[in-house]
Amino acid sequence: MRTHHFSRLALLATLGTFSIFSCSKEQESTKVQPVADSSRQEAKAEQAYPGQTGESRAGYLSGQPVEYRSINGENIYEGDIILTAEQVAKGTGAARPESAGRTSGRWPSAVVYYTIDAALPSQNRVTDAIAHWQANTAIRFVKRTTQANYVTFRVGSGCSSNIGMIGGRQYINLASGCSTGNTIHEIGHALGLFHEQTRNDRDTYVNILTQNIQSGYENNFSKYSTSGYSGTDYGALDFGSIMMYGSFSFSSNGQPTITKKDGSTFDIQRTALSTGDKAGIDAMY
Ligand SMILES: [Zn+2]
Repeated sequence: MRTHHFSRLALLATLGTFSIFSCSKEQESTKVQPVADSSRQEAKAEQAYPGQTGESRAGYLSGQPVEYRSINGENIYEGDIILTAEQVAKGTGAARPESAGRTSGRWPSAVVYYTIDAALPSQNRVTDAIAHWQANTAIRFVKRTTQANYVTFRVGSGCSSNIGMIGGRQYINLASGCSTGNTIHEIGHALGLFHEQTRNDRDTYVNILTQNIQSGYENNFSKYSTSGYSGTDYGALDFGSIMMYGSFSFSSNGQPTITKKDGSTFDIQRTALSTGDKAGIDAMY
């Protein structure tokens, strides 16, 4: 699964996104908002257990050392990614085959088998998110019958998912506050995507303001390479990716946690897959 840092490609996005101050749209999106107004109806970055940070633990992911949080007996990485006990236990002395790692988390033939727990409210969040993925990518979602490997969408304390196909049954957990957009994001994790701001090359594009990050959430902003993780970044960092945090995600004080290199802020996007998201998935699958 080490490849699954699927950061977006941005052949087209580059033109519009990175030409600083060249058009009104850009000026609009980079408007500095020094204080986050709590009344803003901005989409929230996903959390498995909102308000809970648990304890810091050292473990492994794909044989590489990572720091994660132990919350309610689960291993939470980057806020909403669930690592299995097997994933975090592996490491010392374990083989680290690059080639195996690069394919192990993908869904064979780009088909994701799934079920929806009957107790999950607002199931249209799931069916709409699946429809969006199917309309925009080659990934296909098929109701599980007897397949061994599949995703079950169920009620959770927050929004969370495993990363890639882990084998057997895995879950996407959705609290009532998880929107269709959050569900599209969680499906992205299940397909193998990490968060855009953890890209290896992100320092070329963003400043991380550690002093403004809520205590216990710092690792949501760590580059995967800092954790010893190897992966593949597609194209340029995509501020519009559905896997990208916003400038005020996990802020402790209303000040930005991430800005563009020029210090300007940007909004979180949880409506649709970006052009870069689609291109990244195409490249991966
Ligand atoms: Zn996430």
